[in-house]
Amino acid sequence: MRITKLELFHISIPFKKPYKLSKKYGTQTHAHAVIFKIHTDAGIVGLGESDTLNPFTAETPSSVMVVTRDIIAPLLINQDPTQIAMLEAALDQGVSGNLSARGAVNMALYDIVGKAYNVPVYLLLGGLKHTQLPLLGPIGSGTPDEDADAIEALYEEGYRTVMIKMGALPIADEIKRMISAKQRFGDRMKLIPDANQGWETSEALEFVNGVKDHAPDLLEQPIRSWDIDGLKRIRNRMACPLAVDESLMTAQDAATIIRERAADVFSIKVSKNGGLTKSVQIAQTAGLFDIKCLMNSMLEFGITQAASLHLGLTLPNLVDMGHAYMSVLRMADDITDFHRNISHAVVTPPEGSGLGIALNEDKLKKYTQDYIKIQ
Ligand SMILES: [Mg+2]
Repeated sequence: MRITKLELFHISIPFKKPYKLSKKYGTQTHAHAVIFKIHTDAGIVGLGESDTLNPFTAETPSSVMVVTRDIIAPLLINQDPTQIAMLEAALDQGVSGNLSARGAVNMALYDIVGKAYNVPVYLLLGGLKHTQLPLLGPIGSGTPDEDADAIEALYEEGYRTVMIKMGALPIADEIKRMISAKQRFGDRMKLIPDANQGWETSEALEFVNGVKDHAPDLLEQPIRSWDIDGLKRIRNRMACPLAVDESLMTAQDAATIIRERAADVFSIKVSKNGGLTKSVQIAQTAGLFDIKCLMNSMLEFGITQAASLHLGLTLPNLVDMGHAYMSVLRMADDITDFHRNISHAVVTPPEGSGLGIALNEDKLKKYTQDYIKIQ
């Protein structure tokens, strides 16, 4: 089998309601992605998705399209898509960075192999460790009362883990939000504040001190991604585990964080981390050092969510909490049928071969704002 051409679609779909993130990312009204179709001479089409959010990622949808056209695609065309290790090595040598574009390519290659051999991707990754996973529900930044309404609604839907976005308000307000959530829901929900790099180290330490009697179950990425020393200081003072998200882009980041003992939990995102091959490497290395994985999500549509689910279902070292497979539920629409894997805040293995998702071509057309074909 040979790769014959790539098609890339920059899509944009609004959220059901605007999503208030940290100071660094502001309020998001639309999710953007680049959908990849990798075509083969056997008629099999692999699906991939690149989920950028600058300044979370260095990439943007436009950069993904240009770098794929100019640098990545020439290394793929006419090659055998089933030899993923060989293609990964060629791309590692020929492409610097651009992990989100790389991620879309890698998940599309797995989709092709799964479809060619008529097996689901989780079998290619070693088979199931879990037959289902609980979901976490995210809430944006709000007042304690707004948070309580949002968390109660998630509880009613069956969620038992909530990710509370922080990092937009003064630290005294964030402490009040945390204490209020813990007092109201601490006995029935796991609480994960995520500051998305929104705090100075001094503010994060103030938060840790302020909530020491009302500790969350996990604290994610309180400070800037590169500040490993700051993460260590926070981790040493905290009464709960510390998760890294923006600090963990590459496998080399994973090695540094492990060496420096700067985190307890890795937030894995298949798009951010450059695809399934690299995410497997990060997750399995973490396991050797007793670091657990949270299967997390960018503002993702169903293709990346499916790839992430296939991986999460195989991993023995997941945190005992909900995982982020609800991304499409907060969008006004999706271009896939991934939502059918979700029921009552639980996600189950996708059926069918490859990634096991169907692309809705009409919706893809409707939401596409930029398109290129490379052959
Ligand atoms: Mg995060």
